[in-house]
Amino acid sequence: MSLSEVSAVAPDDDAVWKPLPNAARRINQILEKPRKVYVTRKVHFNAAHRLFNPTFTDEQNCDVYDICNNFYGHGHNYDLEVTLAGIVNKDTGYLFDLKILKKLLEEEILSKVDHKHLNFDVEMFKDTVPTAEVIAVVFWDVIDRKLKTLNLEGVELYEVRVFESERNFVVYRGE
Ligand SMILES: [Zn+2]
Repeated sequence: MSLSEVSAVAPDDDAVWKPLPNAARRINQILEKPRKVYVTRKVHFNAAHRLFNPTFTDEQNCDVYDICNNFYGHGHNYDLEVTLAGIVNKDTGYLFDLKILKKLLEEEILSKVDHKHLNFDVEMFKDTVPTAEVIAVVFWDVIDRKLKTLNLEGVELYEVRVFESERNFVVYRGE
């Protein structure tokens, strides 16, 4: 808008939106129709892994895992995105309190995997080959189990995404 278009005159009284008295207001009327939303929390952790299947021969491991079969493993800067889905609560305007998911991820995931060697230090990866695919599936089970104990009515785990690098990530939806 150029300065010349700015009106110096106060707007007409009828043109200004005015709330009704609180008792007469209907808040979040837009949510009277159920609206399904997807809410995501993103967290970051660093961890090492060795991609190695102990039931394969050394040659098979080299063929399948290539550089990921370095004897002592190697590290990644992982990102994890966890998405919950459900109908927005009409009164609060929330799907759920994101602080709950933040705490759950800190306690159930980050405290156990951050700066750890997934093959040796982390019980949830015991007897697995911790590829991004397996990490996504293991995390799903841990998060889903914990969520169910919280009884967040109408809220379900929708998706887990594990980024092993900026360009490579795995999506798991519990199927
Ligand atoms: Zn790797």
